[in-house]
Order: sequence, then C-alpha cells, then structure tokens
Amino acid sequence: MPRRPSFIIAGERIPLGQSRDVRLVISETYTGEKVHVPLRVIRAKKPGPTVFITAAIHGDEINGTGIIHDFLFGDLIELKRGTLILAPVVNVFGFESHERYLPDRRDLNRSFPGSAKGSLAGRIAHTLMTELVDRCDYGVDLHTAAIQRTNFPNIRADLNNPQARRLAEAFGCFMIVDGKGPIGSFRREATKRGCPTIILEAGEPWKVEPSVLQIGTQGIRNVLANLEMIDERPLKPPFLAKVRKTQWVRATVGGILKFHLSPGDFVEAGQALVTNYSIMGEEQYTLQAENNGIILGMTTMPAVKPGEPICNIATLTAKQLQRYRTKMERAKTDPHTQAFTDLATSMDVVDA
Ligand SMILES: [Zn+2]
Repeated sequence: MPRRPSFIIAGERIPLGQSRDVRLVISETYTGEKVHVPLRVIRAKKPGPTVFITAAIHGDEINGTGIIHDFLFGDLIELKRGTLILAPVVNVFGFESHERYLPDRRDLNRSFPGSAKGSLAGRIAHTLMTELVDRCDYGVDLHTAAIQRTNFPNIRADLNNPQARRLAEAFGCFMIVDGKGPIGSFRREATKRGCPTIILEAGEPWKVEPSVLQIGTQGIRNVLANLEMIDERPLKPPFLAKVRKTQWVRATVGGILKFHLSPGDFVEAGQALVTNYSIMGEEQYTLQAENNGIILGMTTMPAVKPGEPICNIATLTAKQLQRYRTKMERAKTDPHTQAFTDLATSMDVVDA
C-alpha cells in the first residue's frame, strides 16, 4: 500500500530515506508548558506501508517502552520500504508518576477517538487519532498486565478484520485472544478508523523484563517482515492458539496463596492451581481449574481477599491441549524456536 512520498507529522516534513525524532504536542502543564509525545520516524528510501508502534498508553506499563528502546538503539532493523513510527511513551503524564491513568483520573485507553473540545483525555486521544493513526496503515500497541498481575505474552486482535488477523498471526506469539477490545480503546478505535491495530499484552507493570523484550522485539520484526518492510525470515512459535474465552479464577476466602502453576503452563480440568492458607498456616482450600487451558494471567500478590482475581485461564479443548503440548515438547529440541521455549520457562513464579 504505497503512501505519498512526502510525509508531514508533528508539523515536520520528513522525506523518504530519512529518520528523525519529532515531538507531537498533546497537552500543556499547569504552567502552560507544552507537553509532547516523543516520536521517532524512520522512512525507507522506497515507499511502502506506514506502521506505528506505541507503548505506555497506560503510563506504568513500560515493558513496551523497553521493547521500543531496543529499536531506538539503532541497528536492530534496516527498513527497506515504508515508514516506521516509534512512540516509546504515549501517556507522558502517567509515565512521569508511574501511574496507569491521566491526571484527570481518566483511562486514556478508554477515551478514543476523543474530541478536540473534550476532556483532557479526550483531547489527547483526538490528537493521537488525527496526528498519528490517520497517517498510518497498521499499528501495534504494547501493554502489560494491570498492577499486581502478570500476563503470559499474548496478542489481542479482532480476527474478523483480515488485516488485523494478518498482523496478529505474523507477530508470532503462542496465543491470540480474539475480540474487538473495550469500547474507547486505542486499538478498537484505530482499527475502526481504517488502521488495523493489534496489542501485545506481556509481563508486569513497572518492569522491563528480558523475556518480554525478546518476544516483543521478535514479534515486531515478524510483523515488519510480513509487510515486506524488512528482509528477514520470520521466527514462528511452536504453536499458535486462538482463543475467545478467558476466565478469571477468584479467591473464595481471605488468605495467603501457594501457587502450583505459572503463566504459560498448560492446565487440565480438575488440576490444582493454588492452595490458600490462613495467616496462621492452616490449609483452607485448593482451587482447581474448571476447564482445560493455558494460564494467561496471574496475580503476583499472594495475599488475597474473597473475590480477588488469582489466575486467568484461556480455555482450550482437550484435543487442542494435547496438540499444543506435543508441539511444545518437540520445540524444546529445535534451535529455531529457542526464543519461545526460553520464554515459556522464564515466566515461572512458583517452585512447586
Ligand atoms: Zn494497558
């Protein structure tokens, strides 16, 4: 999908073959200083698709910032066609205070498409839509789990949209969770506006985790290779599970948890997930999985009250479970899938 050769963003014209850092004004401070989202715009000599990679729309979710930094250092990719726009921090307000939200307590990722005369969040969302999304053909938005949780890396995308499906499959995670995304979320509204966008959900907030960097940088390279923007052989995971149903298992009484499984582990219906002990060490109950599946998300906080989430399981059929398990076992001896099998063993949060 060739784009026009002259390209203007944040008021700057960037010709083909040039790379430049620009600052997109999104708001102002109380003292009236401009607040910018920093962007690197990399243009190949040949025209081609324009792709954005964004991170920290939730200001405390900085694994994506780390992933983009790996590209900003310089020699990770050589773009042969098209334009790549890297935004290491979108919610610059939240990033400053290590918080998910904006100063008006709104969630930027529920405020899209926004409007020019709307709230603080709405105006920022509108600027991002008109200045960034409207210039792009595809997008990848990088997230982590919410506070006190971790996510086994997974892609979320609307698989009914053929181009979003293409990106999601190309990225090469073990898991794709199918769905349009919450109303007002960046990826939902960007996709609706004609810029198919997927998200990566990986790891914990407040951290840059090596295993997440590995999967995130590889996934972005896989997407760029699929769009023929770089010359590279994509690296595929041992299996690609597409799921629609995920379910949180919750604590029934207050206590301290001992985990029996980790994110990314396969689980069979009836298998023990966690045992809950009273503060004085008395065993209270053991939670079991209701369905077959893969552990997609988990709490990182072992102290729970009734109703608090413990683990999020992506449901699989018995046949899928068997098939993926076999593929995973085979992959352990295949050097081409090393990055993925490393990942599967690096998310361990338990010793039992
Ligand atoms: Zn997020």
